[in-house]
Amino acid sequence: RRQALTAYKDKPSATLDGHAITLLANVGNLSEISHVTDVGAQGIGLFRTEFLLMNAKALPDEQQQYKLYCDALHSLQGQVLSIRTFDIGADKEIPYLQQSPEDNPALGIRGIRYSLTHPDTFITQVKAVLRAANHGQIRLMFPMVSQIEELEGALALIERAKAQLIEQEKGFGELSLGIVVETPAAVLNLSSMLPLLDFVSIGTNDLTQYTLAADRTNPHLAKQYPALSPAVIQLISMTITLCKHAKVKVSLCGELGSDPQVLPLLVGLGLDEISINPTNLLEVKAVLVKGRYHDFVKHAQTVSALTRIDDIRTAISTINYI
Ligand code: PEP
Ligand code: MG
Repeated sequence: RRQALTAYKDKPSATLDGHAITLLANVGNLSEISHVTDVGAQGIGLFRTEFLLMNAKALPDEQQQYKLYCDALHSLQGQVLSIRTFDIGADKEIPYLQQSPEDNPALGIRGIRYSLTHPDTFITQVKAVLRAANHGQIRLMFPMVSQIEELEGALALIERAKAQLIEQEKGFGELSLGIVVETPAAVLNLSSMLPLLDFVSIGTNDLTQYTLAADRTNPHLAKQYPALSPAVIQLISMTITLCKHAKVKVSLCGELGSDPQVLPLLVGLGLDEISINPTNLLEVKAVLVKGRYHDFVKHAQTVSALTRIDDIRTAISTINYI
């Protein structure tokens, strides 16, 4: 079956009727980048950089990170590299960083909240990314941004990082800047933030957890509180509509995008770009290239009108896209 799937690697990433979709890959470390090219991804849509911290004994300094991001760009040979700033906190604990104990870590100092309260760690990373941007196409995105104050805070730190680089006479390049939309508040507040953004990436793992108030790590909840719930589908759809209206690029990087059965819904809702686990990418692409855009749109309309999880599951698994 693997062998059959490799046939899709070099096929254009588009529906039968020529509607092009960019398929990117999610990675957690550099060694995974070779898989990205193996499966014909068009770049990296999510580099979870906190994995660099989890696999190290101490925080990598600016030079170490710079080298690492340059190596990643080099392997990508001109394709886009989307770096997510350290998503520290909640389920991602880094032993050597001072993280004060919290009663509810998932609702605590995580993602951008950690970065804004520990600006030195953030600025070091941003300086490394800005310098690497001299050597390739980099998108930088911030996790867990829910309101404009956090975005403004992050952008102010980016300016500080640039000022330091100028003072230190280190060259740097241009970045595209974005946020991961992964809380309901981020969707509801998106209109205020879009004018400051070059792109948005929908993180369905946390968006599901925070929308349904269901711990993503609790196995007893997974079945009854899935990403394919009417509430989450509605928030995904709202995000796409708002971004398109504001002409801001919109992508999706949560696990939902790695499920081949869900591809018709996501494309039908209007997504033009999806970031997928490398091991699932060709399976997802196989569904994309066999379907027609018009059918995907009709399917998305049908699914969006459903109000029960079981009905959504049935509709998703029975779409006839061959
Ligand atoms: C998400 O929340 O959907 C996401 C892509 O990020 P992570 O799974 O790393 O939190
Ligand atoms: Mg997340």
